[in-house]
Amino acid sequence: MALLINDDCTACDACKPMCPNEAISEGSPIYVIDPAKCTECVGAHDEPQCIDVCPADCIVPDPNNAETREQLQAKYERMHS
Ligand code: SF4
Repeated sequence: MALLINDDCTACDACKPMCPNEAISEGSPIYVIDPAKCTECVGAHDEPQCIDVCPADCIVPDPNNAETREQLQAKYERMHS
């Protein structure tokens, strides 16, 4: 399941450099996660790095982009092959 950034985002930029998949970009006015690139950090880290650093706790699961761990791993491998 990809994650999404909700309206509590303050556009602080803490998350963007932490993403191993370059899935986070500056939107207007809040940051945005590309569900085609987010793997919940599966393939790279044990925990979602963006959630770990977000001071606003505004990064949550995206129910419209449900994926299994195996699908997330395959997505990661496709992007980094
Ligand atoms: Fe990037 Fe990981 Fe956050 Fe997804 S969970 S946006 S892959 S840092």
